[in-house]
Amino acid sequence: MIEFERVSKTYPDGTVAVDGLDLTAPNGEITVLVGPSGCGKTTTMRMVNRLIDPTEGRITLDGTDTASIDAVTLRRRIGYVIQNAGLFPHRTVVDNVAALPRLLGGGKKQTRAAAMDLLERVGLDATFAKRYPWQLSGGQQQRVGVARALATDPPFLLMDEPFSAVDPIVRAQLQDEFLRLQADISKTIILVTHDIDEALKLGDRVAVLRQGGRLAQVATPAELLEA
Ligand code: ADP
Ligand code: ADP
Repeated sequence: MIEFERVSKTYPDGTVAVDGLDLTAPNGEITVLVGPSGCGKTTTMRMVNRLIDPTEGRITLDGTDTASIDAVTLRRRIGYVIQNAGLFPHRTVVDNVAALPRLLGGGKKQTRAAAMDLLERVGLDATFAKRYPWQLSGGQQQRVGVARALATDPPFLLMDEPFSAVDPIVRAQLQDEFLRLQADISKTIILVTHDIDEALKLGDRVAVLRQGGRLAQVATPAELLEA
């Protein structure tokens, strides 16, 4: 479980990006953060994996303060998927997926085999393994991004607008496939989107953020649709 306790972030220029966030992302669920551009979604994500530090409050992973977890362990335990995939441009697809496990000391053969399995799981067959990111469609790049985020079998997954950069048909397809994958792997996920339809479709629960980084409400999709 990922817990935010009174978490705030004020940037050095005085911008309040996140303001007193209290939120729990339960294990095995998809918690969606939804809200307009600038409401602090990306800032919230980047605080979880400590790319930036909160100015106040704390974030815990299964009860352990992220401030007390070393960077390598955080990297291994939290998968991160961003918009436009952020793949390494000079590495092949399979090397993109195997890069972190290799860095963490995994053997070449074993990490490649594991990467091939993961690519298969996100719907990319072996013919994609040796391509470079620029040889893939946007949707295919996002699939590789998801496979790469899963490469250390992390219990936690942060997904920042993972399906926003592709056209609506590919988006719906990626969403459906991702829900099927999650039914199987049961990761503890925080997913950020500005798209309320995506939030309702993917979220086990939905946290609605307002401008100024304040949490407006947390509810299940069913509760939100009733209101
Ligand atoms: P979202 O992901 O919801 O679009 P962000 O977390 O990116 O929101 O940004 C929240 C607020 O913080 C915005 O007002 C944004 O302009 C501001 N912000 C983001 N990064 C910085 C930064 N490095 N320095 C100052 N302000 C920032
Ligand atoms: P989408 O509409 O899904 O973004 P694209 O039109 O970008 O799809 O790509 C369609 C197909 O062409 C995909 O299978 C993709 O892998 C392949 N493709 C796209 N760009 C290249 C390229 N530069 N070299 C080789 N194959 C490519």
